[in-house]
Amino acid sequence: MNKTEAEKRIKKLRSEIARLRDAYHVKDDPFVTDSVYDSLNRELRSILEKFPEFVDLNAPENRVGGKPLDKFEKVAHEIRMLSLNDVFSTEELIDWEERIKKLIPGKKFNYFSEVKFDGLAVSLVYEDSVFVRGATRGDGFIGEDITQNLKTIKSIPLKLSSPYAGRLEVRGEALMSKKTLIQLNKQNEQEGKAIFANTRNAAAGSLRQLDPKLSAERKLDFFAWDLITSGDEFKLHSEKHKKLKAFGFNTSIENEKICKNLDEVFSFIKSFEKIRDAFPFGTDGIVISVDDLSLQETLGVVGKAPRYMSAFKYPAERATTIVKDIRVNVGRTGVLTPLAIFEPTSVAGSTVSKATLHNFDQIERLGIKIGDTVVIEKAGDVIPKVIEVLDKMRTGKERKFKMPEVCPVCKIKVEKKVAGGLKSSSSKGPRSSGAPIPGQTISNRTFQSSELSVAYYCTNTKCPAKNERFLEHFISVFEIYELGPKILRRFKDEGLITDAADIFTLEKDDIAPLERFGEKSAENIIKEINLKKKIPLGKFLWALGILHVGQETARDLATNFGTLEKLMKAKQSDLDQIENIGPAVCASVINYFNDKSNLVFIDKLLASGVVIEKADKKKEGKFTGMTFVLTGTLSSMSRELAKEKIINHGGKVSGSVSGNTSYVLVGEEPGSKLKDAQKLGVKIIYEKEFLDMI
Ligand SMILES: [Zn+2]
Repeated sequence: MNKTEAEKRIKKLRSEIARLRDAYHVKDDPFVTDSVYDSLNRELRSILEKFPEFVDLNAPENRVGGKPLDKFEKVAHEIRMLSLNDVFSTEELIDWEERIKKLIPGKKFNYFSEVKFDGLAVSLVYEDSVFVRGATRGDGFIGEDITQNLKTIKSIPLKLSSPYAGRLEVRGEALMSKKTLIQLNKQNEQEGKAIFANTRNAAAGSLRQLDPKLSAERKLDFFAWDLITSGDEFKLHSEKHKKLKAFGFNTSIENEKICKNLDEVFSFIKSFEKIRDAFPFGTDGIVISVDDLSLQETLGVVGKAPRYMSAFKYPAERATTIVKDIRVNVGRTGVLTPLAIFEPTSVAGSTVSKATLHNFDQIERLGIKIGDTVVIEKAGDVIPKVIEVLDKMRTGKERKFKMPEVCPVCKIKVEKKVAGGLKSSSSKGPRSSGAPIPGQTISNRTFQSSELSVAYYCTNTKCPAKNERFLEHFISVFEIYELGPKILRRFKDEGLITDAADIFTLEKDDIAPLERFGEKSAENIIKEINLKKKIPLGKFLWALGILHVGQETARDLATNFGTLEKLMKAKQSDLDQIENIGPAVCASVINYFNDKSNLVFIDKLLASGVVIEKADKKKEGKFTGMTFVLTGTLSSMSRELAKEKIINHGGKVSGSVSGNTSYVLVGEEPGSKLKDAQKLGVKIIYEKEFLDMI
């Protein structure tokens, strides 16, 4: 990305972030998920790190929360309500620790870990133990007075359980339980009202009801996480939590922990993750703070966030990324599967760089263009998928994807088929009366996509992409033992590979989410593939499956030409001179390298990381100019080893006896080659004589 591109992208990101922020902070639009917003913010931050000249303190990313709505009274917070810096991995937490330890060298301290509730941050002011005013965070400085609505929340004490003289402020999170959210959504659905996406949206929407009675019906809860008093009665953040509990507030007390070090923090994060789904309230992470309040003061605030506190966010199941390309893979049955290639991004803890788009309908339905910023989702261990296009992020340079008219592999015209055996040329769908016309009706909900899904096929029976046997041969010559025929078939069906070259660009995270695979086997497969990327020229030629070019011939070609480039440039006359290469092989080799699609395939292999090792030029030795034919079993060595010895001494090994054969080496139980030798009068040697010769 150059400077101009960065500036443009930053502008787009800022306006989209502002739009989403507005949608969920101000209008409480439920159709925005936090992770999408986070993901865009993360991208913005990483670009700004590379191009700090575009950092703007007045930009929306440096402001907290949303603008207060006009319908509520505005109130100024006595002490600014900060927001937290998010971290997304243990590595980032380690970095954070390093930074703070530099600022408080030699200080010993504990961390306080608590659950981060996914609700609406509010401030409650008490005077002489009586609740007098409640407000939203707003922009951190000015919020909205929602006292009347907050009074309807049962877990906010109107009077503190233990008396406190003077003024104090309690901060915490107002939110709806998961159970209440389900009930509310059910009711809203029946009444045709909006459905809330999460407990935070629901809480925000409820607290912004101007009529407190409506707010009361929502049965919200409140969890306190901070206490501000004018005195200095607390030394530790954890003490405040205890006091809050004594005042009658809910805290995360069962789910908080004083940790001696980051390792303990990590195990707390892990243990809460296990119960997170079943937890009655929505949470999105763990807040980790330096427990010692005097150290908190030393560390202070930078920008809008405290240095002494960090919010660890559990891996998002959604993230945004850019579609760099849409590639088309050809499956076993010839079906063309579009595959989106992304700017690699982290979703649910793994790196995603591609996702199948299944079929052309899917692309139409989502409206994906190459260059688009999209939302991808990866729920649990399933294959990632594109769920939404952020069309506001478009620059105008996006390209529409066109299904190729010819097979990308064999260049034969593809055929459009409609699922259910109907051809698309037929204007009638499965239900002949009033059936919608394909293309126009994809978004029509009454019309199930499964009833009319368009697929494109390569119908060429000889299409190399469809040729499973070739793929199996290729992989077995490369000795990638982890990839048996079943697995190869599976990869094809999933749209992960079209041909053998695609094998070499697979990544662990492409395989791990497939059913019956998992992390470990994915890791083994990738390890094996990487190990076998380097291959001697002879074997490479054998793997290509050139007609008449078996293992022996491939080796002959390799030792004669040394490199692939030289062989590719070879003329008929060059090949003719090689012993053991007959006119059929010769023609086949020439034909193979004249076929453009083969050259494309070889280029693709090399681009995918296959490395061809140069063959040693024909060795000179006592067998130079001699050709051996082997038959039967040798007792002192395998035939493979005998061949190697002959080759190392400059000789050649041939598979059949001819007038050019110098010796036929005969072992036990010889085959028909012995008779051939006798017929042609070729000299016959036995193992002992052979051993004497070498
Ligand atoms: Zn084809």
